[in-house]
Amino acid sequence: MPDMNIASHCTRLQCQAGRAEKIALRWVDADFQPTDYTFADLERESNRCANAFAGLGFGKGTRFFIYLPAQPEVYFAFLGILKLQAIAGMLFSNFGKQAVQDRLADAGAQVLITKQGLLRRIRDILPELPVLQTILVTDLEEDEDQRIRSYPKLLAGQSTAFTVEPTAPETPSVLHYTSGSTGKPKGVLHIHGGLPHQQMTVREILQLAEDDIYWCTADHGWVTGTTYGITAPWSLGHTMVHFGGNFNTENWFRLLQEQRITVWYTAPTALRMLMREEDKIKGQFDLSALKRMYSVGEPLNPEIIQWVRRTLDKDIYDTWFQTETGGHMIVNRPGMPVRPGSMGKPVRGTAAAVAVDGVIAEQPETVGALWLRKGWDSMFVEYLNMPDAYRSKFHGDWYDTGDLAKIDSDGYFWFIGRNDDVINPSGHLVGPFEVESALLEMPEIVDVAVIGAPDPLLYEKIVAYITLKEGAVWDRKLELRCRIHITNRISPIAVPGEYIVRDRLPKNRSGKIMRRVLKAEYLGQDVGDISTLED
Ligand code: AMP
Repeated sequence: MPDMNIASHCTRLQCQAGRAEKIALRWVDADFQPTDYTFADLERESNRCANAFAGLGFGKGTRFFIYLPAQPEVYFAFLGILKLQAIAGMLFSNFGKQAVQDRLADAGAQVLITKQGLLRRIRDILPELPVLQTILVTDLEEDEDQRIRSYPKLLAGQSTAFTVEPTAPETPSVLHYTSGSTGKPKGVLHIHGGLPHQQMTVREILQLAEDDIYWCTADHGWVTGTTYGITAPWSLGHTMVHFGGNFNTENWFRLLQEQRITVWYTAPTALRMLMREEDKIKGQFDLSALKRMYSVGEPLNPEIIQWVRRTLDKDIYDTWFQTETGGHMIVNRPGMPVRPGSMGKPVRGTAAAVAVDGVIAEQPETVGALWLRKGWDSMFVEYLNMPDAYRSKFHGDWYDTGDLAKIDSDGYFWFIGRNDDVINPSGHLVGPFEVESALLEMPEIVDVAVIGAPDPLLYEKIVAYITLKEGAVWDRKLELRCRIHITNRISPIAVPGEYIVRDRLPKNRSGKIMRRVLKAEYLGQDVGDISTLED
């Protein structure tokens, strides 16, 4: 059986291919101090992790979660988990308690790797997570008890040799949660066998060369951060920079300059923020090493493409994919003429189409559901514990992405929007249900509906329609309390940018809030058929 273990491809196989002393990870801390880790270091460090986890009795199928900001331990632990053939669940470090609890409980997480500052944030949910046996804390010197353990102490003295068992392609690997219109987020499970598609896209879309220095700004809590910030580039022996400092214009441009980054993968909201601060960067930084840029997560506006060309003198390529697809699906790339505003064309081996009422449209320019033909190898294999939700995404041979798109007569795809109520503030999907549930926990709020609306910076902002309890007053103090509550429970990304107070909200006869009506009203559009609204 060919060994499909992703972590072996990222470490041992790179050493065997002669890259043992090549830099795999250049870690640049918040003070811009670089530390280099070669592929041999990656192999040794991930082996130490795998040995430590195995020594605690964990193995195939154990559900680990990593709840940490970017730091070298993230990458070593991630690879160690995959070497064990355990599952690596990934969380954003800005998640609040409810977000962490929902995911850990749904997945039946047995191990959590975190740090003290984040553990403090979620301590009071630990009694709700009886299956969570072990919490490994990266900055704890001594074990607190049987459950809360010092990670450095555990790692000390572990062997740096570990034999990875041959791994079948269908072995589960990475788990990310994604939001839907209704209910809690869904666990999107991937497999080791998804690697070839990811590698193909690194070769053909990112087109990384042996001497490239590549930077993907995506957080490892998001599929872009694992696929294009860990697995695919390392499995082909590329050098990646990861940065522990904050996002701001000077920091990012200093990093690009000092590390002589050659290929940069980022997102439109970040670029719009940089555009706003153009004065701080114009002519100040030497970006002569940078060859090209890529973007993902939201539509790349033509203005950004033009700004990048004008101000940075580079080309930028939009790429489209989603948590479920595990790798690029529709892209622009060097060698293909870019139509600004279009997300490009399907990658090799992928068939995409637009469907109206369940039928594939033949006419160019038809707006419909964006469908992908099943069968690419990085496709997700299940929504954890939700077989019906998984099945409902497929129509025969086709997978429905949940997006709306159109295809022009030359085969270029144009993103129109989501085909559901999911909101996309700055590239990170937020389910309205999660925000509504959190707002309903505020004693002053009796009813709520959350929609997405266009935003010039974030692409979409969250708008909350609320009705207040008798006698309650909407003011800045209450808004601030809502902000803190949502940040603590879900994440700062889920905080509404606008609140609209109403006496009552439109509902259908079964009492379900009609977000569609509110959205149309917000956008000044025709509200359409409202015959199912209550009297
Ligand atoms: P996620 O699963 O969190 O990665 O989000 C995937 C969704 O983000 C897609 O279904 C789209 O709605 C949106 N998205 C991702 N990339 C692009 C892009 N290049 N252009 C437009 N929307 C995008």
